[in-house]
Amino acid sequence: MPKFTCSCGHDMNLSQGRPDFELALIPEKRIEEIADFLASEVKMTDEQFFNMIDEVKHTVYRCPVCRRLHVESRINKNHFDTYALVPSPQ
Ligand SMILES: [Zn+2]
Repeated sequence: MPKFTCSCGHDMNLSQGRPDFELALIPEKRIEEIADFLASEVKMTDEQFFNMIDEVKHTVYRCPVCRRLHVESRINKNHFDTYALVPSPQ
């Protein structure tokens, strides 16, 4: 069963569709380009829509337990950079 194990030890199950913890990080510029397409007379298919996103997106897993973000590298698809919450000073 494909899974991703967070640094906190929580296993995220990747084998059942699109789980709520799987996110896409997309540059604002690309979102604007897609919006321009949608506003124009040029018809965009769903395949074109997903291709435009897949070209630039980073897959992100957000751990539901500790809220760490695991961001997939665009260069090495099997590498994730992990970002953890830092407690704010009181
Ligand atoms: Zn975690």
